[in-house]
Amino acid sequence: MPERVKAIDEARAGRAGTGSEPIPFLDLVASHQGLEDDLVAAFRRALHAAQFVGGPEVDAFEREFAATCGTAACVGVNSGTDALRFACTALGVRPGAEVITVAHTFIATTEAITQAGGAIRFVDIDERTMTIDPALVEAAVGPRTVGIVPVHLYGHAADLDPLLALARRRGLWVLEDAAQAHGATYRGRPVGALGSLGCFSFYPGKNLGSLGEGGAVVGADPGLLAIVRQQREHGQSSKYVHETEGFNGRLHAIQAAFLRIKLPHLPVWNTARRRVAAWYRDALARVGDLALPTEPLYGEHVYHLFVVRTARRDALRDQLAAQGIATGVHYPTPLHLQRAYARLGLTAGSLPVTERVASSCLSLPMFPELSQSSVGRVADAIREFFDG
Ligand SMILES: *Cc1c(COP(=O)(O)O)cnc(C)c1O
Repeated sequence: MPERVKAIDEARAGRAGTGSEPIPFLDLVASHQGLEDDLVAAFRRALHAAQFVGGPEVDAFEREFAATCGTAACVGVNSGTDALRFACTALGVRPGAEVITVAHTFIATTEAITQAGGAIRFVDIDERTMTIDPALVEAAVGPRTVGIVPVHLYGHAADLDPLLALARRRGLWVLEDAAQAHGATYRGRPVGALGSLGCFSFYPGKNLGSLGEGGAVVGADPGLLAIVRQQREHGQSSKYVHETEGFNGRLHAIQAAFLRIKLPHLPVWNTARRRVAAWYRDALARVGDLALPTEPLYGEHVYHLFVVRTARRDALRDQLAAQGIATGVHYPTPLHLQRAYARLGLTAGSLPVTERVASSCLSLPMFPELSQSSVGRVADAIREFFDG
């Protein structure tokens, strides 16, 4: 880690030590401070090269990100949502096809299925991992089912082995939504590389974020990846030859250049997130009814979010806010109860675990530069809430 990053970290720790500074949920200023010179140099390089969409920076980033994921190839696209939508199309989602996924996720997961022409079939989550419950998937497979989209929510891999086995048995595919899990592993392998295709987002707040929008699809099957490439570029197989209609979904060269600077830091940042998580665990063991996130036995959690659960979530959130501590709720209303999905006709009670988690989950401040003293202040405030 460069000296200046360390100095900034120490300065922040000192400031936080006064006990009065607000504690943000996420601090993107801090995460770019040590990289400013490199990012400005990359911008200058892109300005002079004047190739703004696609080109060598995108090609190089695709190679480097594929290597990080341990996949044969990567296709850079304009967002995580595009990544999922193009992947769904490549995998054959079209009208009449049904895809199994969870309602405890960001809506991009299901928008992709619908926008590719498919129908959504929700299953409930496992209460410990807060990701898809593999035991419920088999019963949800019907004659129109074509695939399963597990979401590696909060930086925690879904339990993939049972899903992959079921998919093999029933002739389905598995598409990994890894938008929150860059660098997380499942049985020693990076997520995104285990299903037929894996999708990532480079939205600024993700574990690897661009300075705008960005996303990627990774995988090994050249035929599937060729369709993803066509989808991001108006269905083109070569210039002005359109096999299908597609989208304008390309990754910008300037974002690829920024991502190439940030990518080598990803393991360091994930380690820092795991350290922050360990501080929270030490400080928050046996406090009220507070449930701490489960560390999976099958892989490494990269703590995109540190999500605790309590029956008194809203009151705790208000009291922390009053003390200048920002928190989040991911996500307060499950997708099956959103107006957007009223057409599915699912009512409260249809996904009980999802609904219980949505009403009790609270995301505490989490970012690699969060200091130990700030974590201490958050933990003190939480203990005070339950003791007082
Ligand atoms: C962020 C996110 C997406 C969408 O990514 P964008 O780059 O914002 O389009 C998809 N799925 C999940 C689980 C996400 O968290």
